[in-house]
Amino acid sequence: MTYKQPVTIARGDGIGPEIMDATLRILECAGAMIQPEFIDIGESVYLSGNTSGIPEEAWESLRRTKVFLKGPITTPQGGGYKSLNVTIRKTLGLYANVRPNVSYAPFVETKHPNMNLVIIRENEEDLYAGIEHQQTPEVVQCLKLITRPGTEKIVRYAFEYARKNNRKKVTCFTKDNIMKLTDGLFHKVFKEVAKEYPEIATEHWIIDIGMAKIADAPQDFDVIVMPNLYGDIASDVAAQLTGSVGLAGSANIGDQIAMFEAIHGSAPDIAGKGIANPSGLIHGAIMMLVHIGQPEVAARIHNAWLKTLEDGIHTVDIAKGGRSVGTMEFAEAVIQRL
Ligand code: NAD
Repeated sequence: MTYKQPVTIARGDGIGPEIMDATLRILECAGAMIQPEFIDIGESVYLSGNTSGIPEEAWESLRRTKVFLKGPITTPQGGGYKSLNVTIRKTLGLYANVRPNVSYAPFVETKHPNMNLVIIRENEEDLYAGIEHQQTPEVVQCLKLITRPGTEKIVRYAFEYARKNNRKKVTCFTKDNIMKLTDGLFHKVFKEVAKEYPEIATEHWIIDIGMAKIADAPQDFDVIVMPNLYGDIASDVAAQLTGSVGLAGSANIGDQIAMFEAIHGSAPDIAGKGIANPSGLIHGAIMMLVHIGQPEVAARIHNAWLKTLEDGIHTVDIAKGGRSVGTMEFAEAVIQRL
């Protein structure tokens, strides 16, 4: 009997179940050797009265399988329960969020046909640590947390990623002209760690002009490392520049456990319509297959996905007014090309 890697799977909220079903169908038809273990997290769990949004048996599954494929989860804005995404990343120590953004021109319309950059986002610290205080009825405070060990770990991860993937340059984004201590520490550690990788070019941009440069000439970037919140924003912008936020996947890497997902959210505006682009989650699943030692299956899916786009089969977000197919129709087209 051939070994199947157990994988914990959460279908997620909003468009999550639609894009997860499409992705799992592709994985199955491509011959991925995985044993899915489904868990319920997010909205349905909150509504059942569990205020953490994640039941104990889900943690148990995650700690056992150590591999997690997750659909997007809805988090209420400006109040309500704490983000489950943040809780999962922090509880499981998923310190590195790897977000590749690649153009697929001419098969996906983009103003930036030569873009191929990877955002490495610190995933546990910064303003995302969720340390907020109500000081007076009219004054609230959020603390920005940056540590030397956390920064060393993510910056070293970025350089090791560059070395392993034959990337030539690592750029750092901070705002250390204003946040001199916190972002100052991030930039300082970047310069220190860079000395260990003399073969890799380095540069630093203040985040605002850095983002302007990404918007104008993303092909000039290679690997970019940055604190948590900047990475969150920069990766949505970068994905949209390639054609759609619906295209990009991400790997959340820890020392023991790794989680794979699309970069986008639960898209409540299109949930239930069967029109969401499953490509971001497909890309997350491709990264997962490489992580669990099934790179041939990953390559087969990626090639079939690319051929689907080459044949002009597009979901509505990248069809730009042209003919479009639904989520499952897109998945079936990928399967036909496996
Ligand atoms: P979103 O990413 O869900 O949607 C932004 C826009 O992009 C919407 O117009 C949506 O229709 C479109 N879009 C997103 N994914 C698409 C896809 N696959 N195909 C086609 N179009 C797509 O961002 P939002 O509306 O700001 O957030 C909705 C919810 O998702 C919020 O509760 C937020 O907290 C949550 N969220 C979750 C994650 C996650 O689970 N990792 C990430 C981001 C946001």
